[in-house]
Amino acid sequence: MSADLLTRETEIDLTLLEPEPVPFRWRDYAACRDMPVDDFYPHRTAVAWEEEAKFWCKRCLVRTECLDDALRVESHEQVWGIRGGLNENERKPLVAKAKREVRETR
Ligand code: SF4
Repeated sequence: MSADLLTRETEIDLTLLEPEPVPFRWRDYAACRDMPVDDFYPHRTAVAWEEEAKFWCKRCLVRTECLDDALRVESHEQVWGIRGGLNENERKPLVAKAKREVRETR
């Protein structure tokens, strides 16, 4: 067996041994992940309920990602409930600001 053939036969594509990158799915780290969804859609008069949801949002590792996602979706459709620690009325100025910034960059 020639040295050239031996080299070709023993070449290994090392990229096949590298693990596939795992995509970051922020929802996997949500503090509310295993909580009842209703807790994050409080009735407008249920202030205590809303505060309870916000309590968890303040401790959530992915609060920024959650709020960014809500703002992105809200730029074209209404999103209800507590997202990223804010209710829909508290997010309205942020959505308006984001839309203004997009218009200004065009
Ligand atoms: S910020 Fe609040 S609503 Fe968003 S994922 Fe975290 S706990 Fe859930």
